[in-house]
Amino acid sequence: MTKQKIVSHIKQVPRTHLIVMSLCVVLLGFVSLLPSKEVAANRIQIELSAPAPAPTTATLNAEPQLANVTDPVKPEVQTSSNQNVQDITTDPEEASESWLRISVRSGDNLTTLFQKAGLGPNQMYPLLNDIKPSKALNSLKPGQQLEFLIDNGNLRKLRHVTSALTSTLFTRADEQWRFENVVREPEITHVYRGGSIDQSLFLAGEKAGLTQKKIMELAGIFGWDVDFALDIRQGDSFGVIYEERWLDGKKIGNGYIVAAEFTNQGKTFQAVRFTDSNDRADYFTPSGDSMRKAFLRTPVDFARISSRYNPNRKHPIFKTNRPHRGVDYAAPTGTPIKASGDGKVILAGRKGGYGKTVILQHGERYTTLYAHMSRIKPGMKRGKRVKQGETIGYVGSTGYATGPHLHYEFRVSGVHRNPLTVPLPQAKPLPKKEMASFRLQSQPLLAQLDTLRNTQLASAE
Ligand SMILES: [Zn+2]
Repeated sequence: MTKQKIVSHIKQVPRTHLIVMSLCVVLLGFVSLLPSKEVAANRIQIELSAPAPAPTTATLNAEPQLANVTDPVKPEVQTSSNQNVQDITTDPEEASESWLRISVRSGDNLTTLFQKAGLGPNQMYPLLNDIKPSKALNSLKPGQQLEFLIDNGNLRKLRHVTSALTSTLFTRADEQWRFENVVREPEITHVYRGGSIDQSLFLAGEKAGLTQKKIMELAGIFGWDVDFALDIRQGDSFGVIYEERWLDGKKIGNGYIVAAEFTNQGKTFQAVRFTDSNDRADYFTPSGDSMRKAFLRTPVDFARISSRYNPNRKHPIFKTNRPHRGVDYAAPTGTPIKASGDGKVILAGRKGGYGKTVILQHGERYTTLYAHMSRIKPGMKRGKRVKQGETIGYVGSTGYATGPHLHYEFRVSGVHRNPLTVPLPQAKPLPKKEMASFRLQSQPLLAQLDTLRNTQLASAE
């Protein structure tokens, strides 16, 4: 297999332009073909660059574009800090003005910072007086910067840079200081990484250039369909398009995964991130179904399956032919047990050989049972509503149990089913009124995934 790295550039896409872009997603060029011995996974990197957006004035807000999005996956943001007092610098927006930039260090206050800028109290007090009722300049923190525009010994403007994206600008006009909060929007580019799995998703992801966090996010998106501990096989593959955030030519962090696919044992799953009309974002299949399921497959983290569903099993204690109508997960005593789906408690207490047990009812058809708990979470009682993922109790060995484990049962219309293989109902799909907008957002991204996967396959030959 040849190992290559292909970098090409495509114009990127504000969301409103996705439709147009979808019609002309073209690879503009292959910049380099670099054979590399140590890269086992094929790696394709596509950067999609956008024109730098102008800074916008708004209230202080760390994530201007995505602030209202309720999201399970936070973007990674790197913050950079300049260490020392720097030379006079030229601001790109005000090319004719020379700003003096001073970094805030521990122990600094406004007085010491003004002193470093060569300004006395007579320059500081009028400013403080005019902005007094506000909290502006109240919290100066190490790593932040103050930028001074000084004209003949007089302070004309002051900028308090609170983060890579946020600052407060103070200006003096008509003998009066005013200020505004300024939020800069980072330039968003899209990057593609893909690879195939030799040993683990983690290793393959690293080889493809994904951060640990992105690998976890990828696993989180497909974790409803693929058990990354048990189902992974050599030759499984993945592709992911995610955002990178840039400011003034410097990368300030990664953003969201916007589209991804995972092929497991020959079956391909695809997911697209979609932000609905209420500004809620989540991942959906190409047909608009949620990537989430109404049930978690496994109600305990970091557990090992110690006994599978088996209608003909010999019981470990009774040595008789006793069906095992659930799955056992061995885990240390005290490990939290999660409700596998939204539901209602119909039993919380001791139940014969099950020991301390919780049974949940989910809608009309489904019940789940969690047995041998060391402790039932306080407050769990008949009728209580629980959310998917909420802790309902803790692993133990009460009842007939040879060691600490969770015994988990899944029933559909009263009939026991194998929790590991029962088809799980999907969480709610997108409502019809969102579908048009969903297609506009998702189709170009899916087209990109197709293009990039095929480019990778072609280049691997
Ligand atoms: Zn069991």
